Amino acid sequence: MDCARTRQLAQAYVDRELDLTATLALEEHLAACGDCRAHHEALRRVRAAVSAGIGFEPAPAELRQRITRQVCGQAPCEQRWWQRPASWLAVPAALMLVFATVFASLSYQQWAATGEERIVYHINESTNPATALRNLANHVESNPHLKAVVVAHNKGVDFLLAGARDADSGELFENSVAKLRARGVDFRVCGNTLARRAISPAAVIPEATLVPSGVAEIGRLQVKEHYVYMQL
Ligand SMILES: [Zn+2]
Repeated sequence: MDCARTRQLAQAYVDRELDLTATLALEEHLAACGDCRAHHEALRRVRAAVSAGIGFEPAPAELRQRITRQVCGQAPCEQRWWQRPASWLAVPAALMLVFATVFASLSYQQWAATGEERIVYHINESTNPATALRNLANHVESNPHLKAVVVAHNKGVDFLLAGARDADSGELFENSVAKLRARGVDFRVCGNTLARRAISPAAVIPEATLVPSGVAEIGRLQVKEHYVYMQL
């Protein structure tokens, strides 16, 4: 953040109206810039002086009574909760909260009853996909209730491209992927990564499917489908 922007945001900062990112950027600038620090200090002093000057004056008893009489008439100014308009708003809000909680817990119970273990594996690097696939095969082997989704992203998409081979064994990765696919493992490739690296979607092997964003898919699986995150 530069001096001009810092001065622009200084008042909002003093009034604690900035979001976290802007606050941090501004504080970083203040720490490094004496001029802006002095400007900020002056603003802060003005604010403190103004706040101190605004006192709270309790309303005189007579004024209070007059207002109460006008608002409530001569009758005692008390209302049951159902006579107060704001209380009615709270009822549907509370009911909605109850329903939302019940439905969320039902979908969780339905899922838990299947005994299925849902894991989303994130492959972010192309360092060692052969090891990743071997670990995954072992996991599938040891747990018949495993539902696994592999989300490949960044350099991690390389092994899912047609013709990609394990550098050590010379084996086509597609063969191991096809075996895992036959056991119910899903492979999903990040569309953003392909676009960024100018890789044609046609280069992705048919065992894998394309999702618009790998990161969004990982988030969605965890939040909406109760998947647990693991990095391979
Ligand atoms: Zn500055």
